[in-house]
Amino acid sequence: MKETGNISIHTENIFPIIKKFLYSDHEIFLRELVSNAVDATQKIKRLSSIGEFNGELGELKVKISFDKDKKTITISDNGIGMTAEEIKKYINQIAFSGATEFVEKYKDKGDDKGIIGHFGLGFYSAFMVAKEVEIVSKSYQDKSEAAKWVCDGSTEYTISAAKKKTRGTDIILHIAEDSEEFLEEFKLKSILEKYGKFLPVEIEFNEKVINNPNPIWTKTPADLTDEDYLKFYEELYPFQEKPLFWIHLNVDYPFNLTGILYFPKVKNEMQLQREKISLYSRQVFITDEVKDIVPEFLMLLHGVIDSPDIPLNVSRSFLQADSNVKKINSYITKKVADKLQELFKSDRPAFEEKFASIGLFVKYGMISDEKFMEKAKDFCLVQDTSSKYFTLDEYAEEVQAAQTDKDGNKVYLYTTDQEQQDAFIQSASQKGYSVLKMDNMIDSHFINTIETKIEKTQWKRVDADAVDKLIDTGINLEAILTDAQKESVKKVFEDTLQDKQKIVAVEAMSPDELPAIVTQNEFMRRMSDMSKTGGGGMGMFGAMPNTYNITINANHPLISKLADLKSEDEQKALAKQISDLALLSQNLLTGSDLTAFIKRTVGGF
Ligand code: ADP
Repeated sequence: MKETGNISIHTENIFPIIKKFLYSDHEIFLRELVSNAVDATQKIKRLSSIGEFNGELGELKVKISFDKDKKTITISDNGIGMTAEEIKKYINQIAFSGATEFVEKYKDKGDDKGIIGHFGLGFYSAFMVAKEVEIVSKSYQDKSEAAKWVCDGSTEYTISAAKKKTRGTDIILHIAEDSEEFLEEFKLKSILEKYGKFLPVEIEFNEKVINNPNPIWTKTPADLTDEDYLKFYEELYPFQEKPLFWIHLNVDYPFNLTGILYFPKVKNEMQLQREKISLYSRQVFITDEVKDIVPEFLMLLHGVIDSPDIPLNVSRSFLQADSNVKKINSYITKKVADKLQELFKSDRPAFEEKFASIGLFVKYGMISDEKFMEKAKDFCLVQDTSSKYFTLDEYAEEVQAAQTDKDGNKVYLYTTDQEQQDAFIQSASQKGYSVLKMDNMIDSHFINTIETKIEKTQWKRVDADAVDKLIDTGINLEAILTDAQKESVKKVFEDTLQDKQKIVAVEAMSPDELPAIVTQNEFMRRMSDMSKTGGGGMGMFGAMPNTYNITINANHPLISKLADLKSEDEQKALAKQISDLALLSQNLLTGSDLTAFIKRTVGGF
């Protein structure tokens, strides 16, 4: 036996669900009702423009008022209005969106961009805060009768004739006890400003217009000046420093999206504020959470994105899978890359000047997005210690001659701290090497990524080794000490240091170098850095300790002197002084060791 049937939904059960769960944020009711009112005004405008309505349009407006004593909030518009029949049709059937029907009917007659509603449940969000809702409406149609609909949130409603003389709709909410917070002027105003700041018709609250109905993102870039963009930035973020530049987004196909993204001035990463991009749908504010829509690396930009093609009331996982969202994401990435390229090409000095701020985005983008990497590797800049900028290609050329090792790898030297690594930088410069400044938080990740992208390159921090060892040219200096002497010197230092984290080696270096230097093996240092930031899945083992190499210069006169000393105590005393100096130069001599060093040194005079 087989039986087919319809699943019926009992509306009695649905209201409490709407009330509690439809939107966790109850303030949304105002967004929904004001959007409906705005829609109604847009519709009458449309009808007028296509000649379906020949009456007086008047000044189209949405007004919000409240009465604390009567505990009501009223949303009024002079839009299209509804007849009793239409109220029954549009309001009584939940999820039957009149907006969809309207757009369907008139879609061939001019553009339908102005119509907001497409959720179908919008109006019922009123019951999240109201125990009773009245609709008083008069349709634009000739000789139509005004109608009044009342419903207390149960499935029963009444509909009757009303006295309203003017075209439009009043929605009167009788606020429930648990929602009386919405009867505060400050509260209402802030909600209206949040959601309605850029609604396309005037929104009046307390006799004052609270919105800018023509925000610049809705205009054509050709009609706008730099000043317009800066002014708008100030409107969005008062008291913020001027942005560096901006990108005006504007697409109709295959999805609809407009907006403006501003590149902020970045002083340091800590100051960066995420959630500075707001998402709008036809000028209605939706959210500050644009994750998934805007690529992760551009979350640090500021501005607005407006798209009716982004699903609004759905879960995050759905959003990630949505094909429009994916397309929007790659469109934004491409736009940003193109803009940066254009800036780079048209005015390189200005680009360089801004690179301290832009660099962060560029590098972050290159790390996280293959497509962006493709474009950005042509305009991503690196800066040497003399503050000169190079593109990656230019830099490869620059170091080709002096910094290619015996296997044909170009060795890029960098510093993460110019002050602290000064001694190493000086040694490298003396040898004719160039050193790059890589002192941004993002740079260690950037180096890891770029190293695999540019063939036959190797990045080494300038203190990764003694200068003669940094770039292995296959030519080794001769050591003055014999192998036996080297061994004994090594042992003296090991006994003096007594520290497993410090590995002693005796190497032939130039006599001009210091008698001992502290270096950190590039690979070990990177591992330890990574473990500290929890990257590479190593965080779970806790931070790895830093290990240091103490390299003793076998060709330095002081070391020869040490090797020749007869007394072991004297040898140790000298070794102690030499290694302490090396540690001191790297800020590694601290606590009681430092105190002892100072006392000893002062005592020596
Ligand atoms: P949606 O806005 O998603 O269409 P709603 O439940 O909010 O769904 O509204 C249903 C329909 O009721 C609207 O599409 C519209 O036709 C009608 N409506 C609601 N509010 C108004 C209004 N202020 N003026 C005219 N029509 C309205």
